Amino acid sequence: MLNALTIDVEDYYQVSAFESCVRFEDWPTFESRVEKNTGRLLDILDEYGVKGTFFVLGWEAEQRPRMIEEIVARGHEIGSHGYRHRLVYSMTPTECRDDILRSKELLERITDAPVAGFRAASYSIVAESLWCLDVLIDAGFTYDSSIFPIHHDRYGIPGAPRFPHVLERPRGRIVEFPLSTVQRFGLTCPIAGGAYLRFLPSWVMRSGIRRINEVEKQPAIIYLHPWEIDPGQPRLAAPLKSRLRHYTNLGQTESKLRRLLAEFSFGTVGAVLKARGVL
Ligand SMILES: [Zn+2]
Repeated sequence: MLNALTIDVEDYYQVSAFESCVRFEDWPTFESRVEKNTGRLLDILDEYGVKGTFFVLGWEAEQRPRMIEEIVARGHEIGSHGYRHRLVYSMTPTECRDDILRSKELLERITDAPVAGFRAASYSIVAESLWCLDVLIDAGFTYDSSIFPIHHDRYGIPGAPRFPHVLERPRGRIVEFPLSTVQRFGLTCPIAGGAYLRFLPSWVMRSGIRRINEVEKQPAIIYLHPWEIDPGQPRLAAPLKSRLRHYTNLGQTESKLRRLLAEFSFGTVGAVLKARGVL
């Protein structure tokens, strides 16, 4: 069973957890580590012969077009992660459209190919911001992977479908690939990667993916950020909860990722959705 591997290409100071202490205007003053970390991820994926989908922040694409060209040259799929990592539900539909179009146009100019997929900053397509799906349809996206069917303080639509499906919207149709969860003891638990990969023991994620593949006969989708394989990144003076979420177990990400790559089959989101016949 082919599962989807996704990388949200952003740097350590651009994450939502730090937005209270890092202003967008100050981004150029931080040491950039995204190109080096993305390069390391590309090397790891090459080792295992795995292709993935890289949802790239438009601002990064604008600063570092060569990084995008390198991702494409190594056979991966490019998707959009918006332009400046604003939470969808913090924007008006017009602001959201401008942000998404700016990133899509930038990425398409660099890659000279259509960008089909979108991932919102911090999975911020929630019940109150489902209108973003219509913005995506109007912008020409064919799939989205931003809905997390869980309870969380910043994101999530509890009870939303857990596997790839077509959404019929007022503006048309779009395929949604929700972030992976497992159902245990009546609870829907996230196992999709990122902080969950860092916090959970490796066997929890691996048994979850096995269960999704073998019992539920569905593909899993996991995500990762380039800064998550960089234990040496500068430490920012953020609130304790944000620091715990961001810095815990950074040194374990690479070995946990390697175990997943060795044990399961991964490909791009586009390839998985096509194999399932929904795209
Ligand atoms: Zn992000």
